[in-house]
Amino acid sequence: MNHIKDTVIIGAGLSGLVVGHALKQLDPHHRLMIVEKSGKCGGVIQSFQDKGFTAEWGPHGFLDNSETSRRLITQLGLNNELAKAPLATHGRYVCRNGALQLIPQSPLKILRAPLISWREKIGVLRDLFKKPLAGEPTVAKWANHRFGPALLPYVDAVFTGTYAGDYNELKIDAVMPGARALEKRYRSVIRGALATAWRARKKHKTRPSLPTMLSFTGGMQRLVERLADQFVTGEELILHRTVSSIARVEDQWQVRSLEDEPLTGANLVIALPVNQGLGLLATLSDSMPLRRVPEAWLATVVLGFAGARLPPGFGFLAPDCENRFILGALFSSNMFAGRAPANHIILEALVGGRRHPERLELTDDELIAGALGDIGDLLNISDNPVYARVLRPGGGIPQLEAGYPALLSWRDTLVKEMGGLAVCGFGWEGIGINDMVKTATDVADKIIERRTRASAQPELKKVYF
Ligand SMILES: Cc1cc2nc3c(=O)[nH]c(=O)nc-3n(C[C@H](O)[C@H](O)[C@H](O)COP(=O)(O)OP(=O)(O)OC[C@H]3O[C@@H](n4cnc5c(N)ncnc54)[C@H](O)[C@@H]3O)c2cc1C
Repeated sequence: MNHIKDTVIIGAGLSGLVVGHALKQLDPHHRLMIVEKSGKCGGVIQSFQDKGFTAEWGPHGFLDNSETSRRLITQLGLNNELAKAPLATHGRYVCRNGALQLIPQSPLKILRAPLISWREKIGVLRDLFKKPLAGEPTVAKWANHRFGPALLPYVDAVFTGTYAGDYNELKIDAVMPGARALEKRYRSVIRGALATAWRARKKHKTRPSLPTMLSFTGGMQRLVERLADQFVTGEELILHRTVSSIARVEDQWQVRSLEDEPLTGANLVIALPVNQGLGLLATLSDSMPLRRVPEAWLATVVLGFAGARLPPGFGFLAPDCENRFILGALFSSNMFAGRAPANHIILEALVGGRRHPERLELTDDELIAGALGDIGDLLNISDNPVYARVLRPGGGIPQLEAGYPALLSWRDTLVKEMGGLAVCGFGWEGIGINDMVKTATDVADKIIERRTRASAQPELKKVYF
């Protein structure tokens, strides 16, 4: 085997597979090798099927509002296998004062909905007059400063739903750089958001529509299977090989593993979750500002019921102040067709997260009992489930907390100083599938075109419940 490659990619999760795919698209002759420590591709993306029920160990879907992800689906020939759940017809609920409140999906409808009192709604307008907070405030501190305390449970729900995180720890500059940029530019998020929406409407001459949540028939695993299919195992894709160290030797990268002789590449892509990436990068620099970022781990309690009914919509989230056992639940059989046998429903309740890692020490039976308590109470489902199973995902969600901006800028400097090095993966530029696909595609572009990355303005990410 020729061990000298144009590019060696460490990790065959979504990020590494997309880097490899994009390199092949740009240059079919590019000699690449993806090195993966486990015996399978896909990392944390893994679907679960049993007795007619389909669930997910990792992600349940991604929004169709990323051009790069839409292009990837087309390149992979997966458009016909998409499962779709439009946000316009699939609302979400937030648990407030022991009951589920439907969150409308448009700002005007939210304004009219009785989620908070009119006095509290007027209080939200304080944003128009507040100076930007200096330093690196947490999400909770920032949201309280800009909009007042009434919205905090809803903000908590958003960050429970996306990061399984603690909004008292997550940093606003790291998780919503776009909102922070608006705040600084317009001295108000509301004013900035209105100006951005107005400009977009003038440009596109249409009202922006709500995106759709996408998955695949049979689950998210289809995406990584299809990506992996294009690589020749043993030549372009090496499984069961754990990279233990990396080194710059003359003009090339040497990649050492526990199992075999070193590999050499002109380019090296570390496509790993932040903490695994940091483990390898540590040997390249002694000025690393953080050794580890916290992670939020989850357990998913999969529950199937015969004959029961779910409220319409995606599911619900419970802010911490509600003191629930579960963080929320996805109404999976509402989201995508074929996730449960006929006349059955399936829901997936999430437990643990940044705030309650101790719950992950519980046995499966204890987790199921805890989840059933909340489900019975909030959804009025008192029947015994016909199916119950606990899934424990293979990875935690990196938390963008204190020191994160410094870590990113350290990484950027390192990459600039070291020719041919790229670092992407879970938690570096966001945590979602669309973030991974975009960053991995950019990495491949840069390798092929040797482009210098333009200093992009941070994008304003919309919040969907
Ligand atoms: C429970 C959970 C739910 C999620 N839900 C959503 C969701 O609903 N929507 C959404 O958009 N995103 C969601 N995400 C995030 C999404 O799954 C990730 O953004 C994405 O899958 C990360 O892919 P990755 O390739 O960067 O990392 P990973 O999937 O972690 O892949 C990294 C790969 O590298 C391998 N590896 C690690 N160390 C080494 C080494 N030393 N040598 C060789 N190989 C190594 C690992 O075995 C793994 O295969 C969720 C994540 C989790 C954990």
